[in-house]
Amino acid sequence: MKTLKNSIFLLFFVFLLVLGLGHILFALTVEDISIEAKLMTEREKRMATIPVLYGYVSTWEAKKVALTFDDGPKAGFTDRILDVLKKKNAKATFFLIGWGISEHPDLVRRIVAEGHDIGIHGLSHVDLEKLSPFEIEYELTKTRELIQKETGAEIYFFRPPGGDLNDEVLGIARKYGLSAIMWKKSIGDYTHKDGYEPDPEDILKRAKKHFSNGGIVIFHEGLESTITALPEVIDYYRANGYCFKRVSDWYR
Ligand SMILES: [Zn+2]
Repeated sequence: MKTLKNSIFLLFFVFLLVLGLGHILFALTVEDISIEAKLMTEREKRMATIPVLYGYVSTWEAKKVALTFDDGPKAGFTDRILDVLKKKNAKATFFLIGWGISEHPDLVRRIVAEGHDIGIHGLSHVDLEKLSPFEIEYELTKTRELIQKETGAEIYFFRPPGGDLNDEVLGIARKYGLSAIMWKKSIGDYTHKDGYEPDPEDILKRAKKHFSNGGIVIFHEGLESTITALPEVIDYYRANGYCFKRVSDWYR
């Protein structure tokens, strides 16, 4: 009889234990699921509002200009661009390359500290279209990781090197919540094949001609002509009633 009583007591104890553990496990699972669901909802909500931009941007609101700078950070250039932007009180967006981020983390932190936006421009500046899905993923996520390590900033967009973009690259980028940000029209500030760097006056001329209604302007880091032209480009837009927007301001 005593053994039976003990067995019943033991069974009851095991029952309580299982019930308790089950409850704890259930609560944890529910919490996990709800956190995950919340994240998914936030991300999905955001994804639904992010436009994927190709080439000519016609939906940009009139008289709004987004100054964007590719290929940095570069010592002797990023800092001088930031100086101009600070002096002119204009915000911009920088599309950064992985190896530059590792070499000049101070410049990456300065970009964010001074209120500018950062996007991904790839780890090694290779044509993403020519890579395997694994390599594309690595280029995007590793660059994002490097930026986040320095700044803690969440990254929502990328610009493919050379503007080379296909559905596979876009699909992988979207998986990571990254939208492709292109530009309205080339401002042609890059060095040409024969080593010719454009005259700053030509850059200003194109800024006036191609962006009469606003849009995303693409500049490149590492060029003297860009830095020389920049203050005049900013002055021109401002004098004509344009305002400067970061890429993320698009979504606000
Ligand atoms: Zn580039």
